[in-house]
Amino acid sequence: MRNLALLLASVVVLCAANTAPSAPPKAAPKYQEGSCCDKAAKKGDKCIHPCCVKAAKAGKVCDHCNESPKK
Ligand SMILES: [Zn+2]
Ligand SMILES: [Zn+2]
Repeated sequence: MRNLALLLASVVVLCAANTAPSAPPKAAPKYQEGSCCDKAAKKGDKCIHPCCVKAAKAGKVCDHCNESPKK
């Protein structure tokens, strides 16, 4: 009976580990290396391109200037 309890306990632990994945931290906006936004960000600035400003306001990264690497 002790073994069963131990087994149950470990199953519960395993389930908890499986069903409660640590929420992945929301990735910060990723600028494409060398893009206008990337250059601006590296200067501690924000890109002033209208398209980028608009995207930033929507909480996004301008995909016009920062092509998301799709594979
Ligand atoms: Zn930009
Ligand atoms: Zn842009």
